[in-house]
Amino acid sequence: MSRSISILGATGSVGASTLDLIRRQRHEWRVVALTAHSQAVELARLAREFDAELAVVADEACLPALREALAGTGIAAAAGPAALVEAAARGADLTLAAIVGCAGLAPTMAAIEQGGTVALANKEALVSAGEVMIAAVDRHGATLLPVDSEHNAIFQCLAGNDIADVRWITLTASGGPFRGWSPERLRAATPQQAVQHPNWSMGAKISVDSATMMNKGLELIEAHHLFPVGSQRLRIVVHPQSVIHSLVEFRDGSTLAQLGPADMRVPIASALAWPRRIDTPCTPLDLPAIGQLSFEAPDEDRFPATRLAREAVEQGGAAPAVLNAANEVAVAAFLAGQIAFTQIAGSVARTLDGDLPRAPASLDDVLAVDALARVRAATLLEPA
Ligand code: NDP
Repeated sequence: MSRSISILGATGSVGASTLDLIRRQRHEWRVVALTAHSQAVELARLAREFDAELAVVADEACLPALREALAGTGIAAAAGPAALVEAAARGADLTLAAIVGCAGLAPTMAAIEQGGTVALANKEALVSAGEVMIAAVDRHGATLLPVDSEHNAIFQCLAGNDIADVRWITLTASGGPFRGWSPERLRAATPQQAVQHPNWSMGAKISVDSATMMNKGLELIEAHHLFPVGSQRLRIVVHPQSVIHSLVEFRDGSTLAQLGPADMRVPIASALAWPRRIDTPCTPLDLPAIGQLSFEAPDEDRFPATRLAREAVEQGGAAPAVLNAANEVAVAAFLAGQIAFTQIAGSVARTLDGDLPRAPASLDDVLAVDALARVRAATLLEPA
């Protein structure tokens, strides 16, 4: 019997990897909704190929192009943030949340409220909404499956174990494209250099986050919510080969790790098939060819983002949502050539400085904190 799936962020890097796997077992899936921001023609192409019921663009100006590209197919077309939420609320056996940024929060929450299974790649949504999202998962009896490779690795290591027995959870970090760079070189780093990740092929925003190490900071907060062992038990280690995707150490001294190729189709396949397994076309690990695995402590002087994220998770309340919003604003400014690479973390730190809004208790509260923090972050940007 086929299962139904909706993919929020279908035109992105995670969306493409997911659809690649769906294509390989086409008869097993019925596609409900596919969404994008503004790539209407590409979205229509995917909706036709996968015979989706509905295609939605977030940008209303792109609706005419979407309608035209879907003419005569019978596939429904819609646009705007409310249509995105409605698409997610249609309900599917599995919803893949792969929109980038806090823009994915409301639709992800709508999918959670249907009580189905949500495979979560959209880390910014969980970082911003934290307690609010986890409470909604519990309230609606939804299942949250982590797709981020590190969290998927931890999820796999925890299977069959009691979280009370965990001593440490260690998130591995590749260190990004600028791992060995001097502070002077970092100051002059360009967007083109920042999006060239040595191991992973990803969207622009997460690639910049990997270069600043904010990606690992966001993942620390994500892990805090997904695996409630206490933030003091979460550690980060730099592992440049990206072979070990994370590790869990238990009270008896046993450490379990998940290894695999640096290909998002592995954790996505794990979420698609959970609790079973499916084949993937990924190149298997060749350990003799890899030869050596190495590890080093993160350098928080050159890459302060992980420290900022740790402080935000310990502060709690609105701090993680403010950190995320400030980072989204700063990364967009860096990609637009408005600020230098090394100003990203400084800009986030300045936005977090001073009084923060009260702890968000609902989705609307989170969205209000996010909107306020974006305004504040934009006013605090310093020209490059
Ligand atoms: P991409 O930038 O490649 O794709 C983002 C997707 O979201 C696209 O479909 C895009 O549409 C859509 N989108 C962008 N802005 C909006 C908006 N305002 N409203 C609605 N939809 C929007 O991102 P990735 O696939 O790289 O990442 C997606 C998420 O997964 C991120 O949260 C990232 O951190 C996380 N992730 C990604 C990994 C990776 O390997 N790429 C690994 C682990 C986590 P359009 O194409 O029309 O712009």
